[in-house]
Amino acid sequence: MAKKQESRCSFCGRTESECGILLTGLHGMICEQCSKQANEIFREQLKGRQHRANAEELKDIPKPQEIKSYLDQYVIGQDTAKRCLAVAVYNHYKRLGQPDDNNEVEIEKSNIIMVGSTGTGKTLLARTIARQLKVPFTIVDATVFTEAGYVGEDVESILSRLLQVADYDVETTQRGIVFIDEIDKIARKSSNPSITRDVSGEGVQQGLLKLLEGSIVNVPPKGGRKHPDQDYVKVDTRNILFICGGAFDGIENKIAQRLNTHTVGYNNVKNQMKIDNNDLMKYVLPQDLKSFGLIPEIIGRLPVLTYLKPLDRDTLRNILVEPKNSLVRQQIKLFEMDGVELTFTDEALDYMVDKAVEYKLGARGLRSIMESVMMDAQFDIPSSDTKKLEINREYAVQQLEKSMILHA
Ligand code: ADP
Repeated sequence: MAKKQESRCSFCGRTESECGILLTGLHGMICEQCSKQANEIFREQLKGRQHRANAEELKDIPKPQEIKSYLDQYVIGQDTAKRCLAVAVYNHYKRLGQPDDNNEVEIEKSNIIMVGSTGTGKTLLARTIARQLKVPFTIVDATVFTEAGYVGEDVESILSRLLQVADYDVETTQRGIVFIDEIDKIARKSSNPSITRDVSGEGVQQGLLKLLEGSIVNVPPKGGRKHPDQDYVKVDTRNILFICGGAFDGIENKIAQRLNTHTVGYNNVKNQMKIDNNDLMKYVLPQDLKSFGLIPEIIGRLPVLTYLKPLDRDTLRNILVEPKNSLVRQQIKLFEMDGVELTFTDEALDYMVDKAVEYKLGARGLRSIMESVMMDAQFDIPSSDTKKLEINREYAVQQLEKSMILHA
């Protein structure tokens, strides 16, 4: 009787006894080693295809001036920060369009740090730019992070949110942009390393450094703390752009100190004349961030430093009316939905701005003032026959004073 012929892998020709397991298909067989190789080849091919697709997708990227014009529709002023952001985002796209095997000049990533008092529009800028982007974008708050092993979230969970936004597609995640808000809150508490652990300060900065530098990070897909039972997703942060923002309360003192210590001597007395003491933020330099408590390694990984101006009265007045979704436009729209034509007199708007300045609440204050002024009308008008409503100064004063009495 003829000996039964042993099955062979249709790719490498080895017999079943040589390679262990063979998978049987309709017209052939494959061994484990060949299937692994095939998998690699598929992956390489797909990567090449994905890269070409990305380059194609990124062909129509908006130019920096277009990005800025878009921001202008929603954010008043802050030209310096807008220009910085526009250039950084544009360069980010360019980097992404570069083929991997490029032996020429490699464009380095330019992470950004924005310094500006609370309520000056840092988050608004980030949110607005996100709407125009073709890459995943997420905003995270640095205050929730603690050093690994302590209560709070691990720094890696920053990337969990980006993964979620990118529908868990790792390739897409690796091209995303992350806005880290309140970066100043993880500053070292004192310039001398302390004997007690600085759980939410330097340790977190060290953790963050890993992400900013560009490394392969184990990300818990569901976020939160790392858990031994959870499967991690490996994410390469080399191409992820990080934009950080912080109020850095009190940094003006550090800037003033630096400016003063340098202004000794006749020449510097002349220079001192030019210093605008009302807006010291515009002189911010990386060494001021260091005095504030950011570690030099982090500062080095955030090479683009920009600032936001404090909002003066005129800017607040513009913010109330001008942006595409300004508070005034939003109110008009709300009433329009009830068939009511709403108008504000200039004096009423001036009054609301004056109050925001008086309470030192910035642009955020405008919103609560507007809500207090409009609350009764929003409650009563939908059930009335009113078709036109004008908010004048008297009405605004009366409503605001009433609400303040109620809240007192
Ligand atoms: P920050 O992140 O700097 O603390 P936000 O961006 O959250 O401040 O600003 C709070 C709110 O104030 C925004 O939602 C927006 O309505 C308003 N605002 C602040 N700055 C501006 C600006 N420059 N232009 C338009 N609106 C602004």
